[in-house]
Amino acid sequence: MNVVRLRPTTTRPNTSRNAVHSWLACLALLLLAACAVSPAFADEPYARSRDYDLQHSKIAMRFDVEKKEIFGDVTHTLAILRDNTAKISFDSVDLNIRSVTVDRAPAKFETTDAKLIVALPEPAKTGQKFEIEIKYDGKPSKGIYFILPDAGYPNRPIQIWTQGESEDTRFYLPTYDYPNDRLTTETILTVPAAWQTIANGKLVSVTDGAKGLKTWTWKESLPSSTYLISIIVGEFDEVKDSWRGMPVDYFAPKGRGDRLQVNYGRTSAMIELFSKKFGVDYPWEKYDQTMVDDFVAGGMENSSATTNASESLTNPKLVPEYVSNQDELISHELTHQWFGDLVTCKAWSDIWLNEGFATFGETMWTEAHYGKDLADYNRWRAAHEWFHQPNLFYKPIVRHDFLADSEEFDGNAYGKAGWVIDMLRHQLGEDAFYAGLKHYLEANRGKNALTSDFAKAMEEATHVNIDQFLTQWIYGAGAPKLEMSYVYNDAKHQIALTVKQTQVQKGLVGVFRVPVDVEVTTASGPRLYPLVMGKDADKDTDIFLLPADSAPLMVLFDKGNHILKSADFQKEKKEWLYQLKNASELADRADAVNALAKMTKDEDAVNAVGYAMLHDNALGLRIIATEGLGRVDTPLASKLLLAALDQSASSTSGDGLLDRYHIVAALNGDHDPAVAAKLEAIAKDDKSYRARGAALDALGHLKTPTALATLTAAVAGDSPDDFLRNSALRALGPLGDDKAVPLLREWVALGKPVPARAAAISSLGQLDKDNPAITQLLTTYLAEPHFSIRIAAIHALGFRGDPAAIPALEALLSAKDLSIEMVPIIKAQISHIQSKPGAKSAHNNVDDDDDSPATSASKEAAENAERLERIERLTKEMNDRLKAIESRLPAAKDQ
Ligand SMILES: [Zn+2]
Repeated sequence: MNVVRLRPTTTRPNTSRNAVHSWLACLALLLLAACAVSPAFADEPYARSRDYDLQHSKIAMRFDVEKKEIFGDVTHTLAILRDNTAKISFDSVDLNIRSVTVDRAPAKFETTDAKLIVALPEPAKTGQKFEIEIKYDGKPSKGIYFILPDAGYPNRPIQIWTQGESEDTRFYLPTYDYPNDRLTTETILTVPAAWQTIANGKLVSVTDGAKGLKTWTWKESLPSSTYLISIIVGEFDEVKDSWRGMPVDYFAPKGRGDRLQVNYGRTSAMIELFSKKFGVDYPWEKYDQTMVDDFVAGGMENSSATTNASESLTNPKLVPEYVSNQDELISHELTHQWFGDLVTCKAWSDIWLNEGFATFGETMWTEAHYGKDLADYNRWRAAHEWFHQPNLFYKPIVRHDFLADSEEFDGNAYGKAGWVIDMLRHQLGEDAFYAGLKHYLEANRGKNALTSDFAKAMEEATHVNIDQFLTQWIYGAGAPKLEMSYVYNDAKHQIALTVKQTQVQKGLVGVFRVPVDVEVTTASGPRLYPLVMGKDADKDTDIFLLPADSAPLMVLFDKGNHILKSADFQKEKKEWLYQLKNASELADRADAVNALAKMTKDEDAVNAVGYAMLHDNALGLRIIATEGLGRVDTPLASKLLLAALDQSASSTSGDGLLDRYHIVAALNGDHDPAVAAKLEAIAKDDKSYRARGAALDALGHLKTPTALATLTAAVAGDSPDDFLRNSALRALGPLGDDKAVPLLREWVALGKPVPARAAAISSLGQLDKDNPAITQLLTTYLAEPHFSIRIAAIHALGFRGDPAAIPALEALLSAKDLSIEMVPIIKAQISHIQSKPGAKSAHNNVDDDDDSPATSASKEAAENAERLERIERLTKEMNDRLKAIESRLPAAKDQ
């Protein structure tokens, strides 16, 4: 999944599971069901022990769109795994069970908050098979979502779609809802004749029925887990493509079909790449990708039928302005068809076997299609981003202490695990690594796996034992933080390189033992030394003595950046200058940029960064240099950025547009009057829409005298998907001029496009702060169905800080249709309001435990701050993946 981290990977996770509650539910069931598993055995968050093997589900479903109701008839074929099993327990939440039969005979059943328990006619034997048919209906609060036209948006195409991961299938289908079981499916959907349907597997038939209805039948003949079941019906445009003769189809909400090919057209090439590299052909019978509105994740890898957020349908006019457009999202979900769907994590604790590999798949595609430099750039960035999330540092990738909110779908399962897999590739070498993956996929094909299965397969294929590697990087936590320096001894012709690991050793973080390539370049050329750092677990410092025939020009520790680490390498300016100019790998030049950009008063250093911004061959390095100059904030840096802006104006390459956007973004916060004039001109007219958007944003932050007029004009103008209008609406908040209030009130109104409303809500919250009518207006948006409107209103109220909003926010916390990721956001905003002077006395704390109110509030505030940080990170990851995310994330400034 790509979490919403809005979520969409990037999901990250907008699912609803609450492990504490499901554990409690489980416990209740143990008391209830006489033949359940003995509580002496570990259960969730370890994989569940099972009483039966669900083998096949025939799922028939109809819909009442007006009432958002479903009518289901599911027949499960299952085999008993344990003698004397007398009851079959399905996960089922809030569904109205009308009847149950066992082998066609009426059966007794009972329901609890979380379970449907069906009595078998008599205690069954291992291997005995049953067909259990369940007829039910319901108005699910999650799991299945109805996106419908309404008063504000009468032309919206109808879309009904499901989202199972992690454990929401049970809200629309009584089933075994945990990953460690696999089944084939037959999905039979009866819908109005004009609708499309999409489900797992092959389309078998479409038959006409009565009353203008049609029945579509889909069959999935390869088993997969129930969180990967997908049902989509509604009004969609379709584009048909193929790979080696297999259907590869794309679906967009009706009216947006013209966006499919330009964004998704590289899918077949990706399937070919992955089939070859993994050594296992794409395993399913077709590959559909359906883009839906208001999706609760960025993307979801349902087997053979991925669902993605419709924000991934970038307007064709904007596509050239994004370096790899939606390819990260598309390659991520596609990789899951092998890693996640064909081989599935057995328990959520090992979710990195799904998400780490899907993240690595993004690297594979980027490297193959866009080149090594861009892949290296992404990896360099990912490492920096991971180190900026201190809450992840002491947590291992595989863990069992996640408590709630799908929190195991974190930056370790995605970003860090993707990095770790890349490290493994480097250490094993390309051929051995992929031979290992092939064997892992073949040995576990159609099965569920834990990290130990991965270790076994890799060793069998490569004869390399990776246990120490996994202990350190997957079961252990953290990463090396290094301080380095060296001295050259002219008499001995050698250097002494000191490497000190400074990470605080506690918990699962120790001294890292890692093979590393060190390259020493002297006047006579480069020499590479393969070394091992941290051989002695008791010593945090290594001193390496390396030959050098003369004083080194450049010493690279971990050439090419293949170890996840942070590094502070003491070098002289001349060495960094040499490195920026001569290092062959992007990451080594990027390190030099960062070192030189810190020497803000040094003209040589700043000029060198400016030169790299203009002349480095790699776009990624030019971006890093541009951002470095943006941080320098001196007249020289402004001058260099403005000159680069002029140069990019005449560039005709696609990269020129990207350079331009990044330069404008780097000027945000620069108070040089020449900069303001330039931004003003770009905001009004430029060949790059993203540069114009960034200029509008910068004008708001700089509060230039003419900013209000320029932003107001931009709100009135037209651009692809209102790109500029939305940028301008977002910038009016930071501008802080109350004269913008009437304009914003116009754009928050129901009926205006949702992304524009979200942007206007975000800005309105920042203005006319003593006006209770605005607070009141913003609280009315908390109840709206649109995810982005709600999120915008929650953030706007938090930012506003008016205690009058607290009751409405607290009331929202108990709403049933809340996605779980919203809960911490709401709590954080309440805490934020309460932390303002004078606010606490007016209202009680959110929680009412025994702690003193002050302690409890500050504890909660600290917890919320951490959670908010997580949400913000997830949001950011989502941003990286869905470049059109402005529409849903009003708080994001720079994308
Ligand atoms: Zn994923």
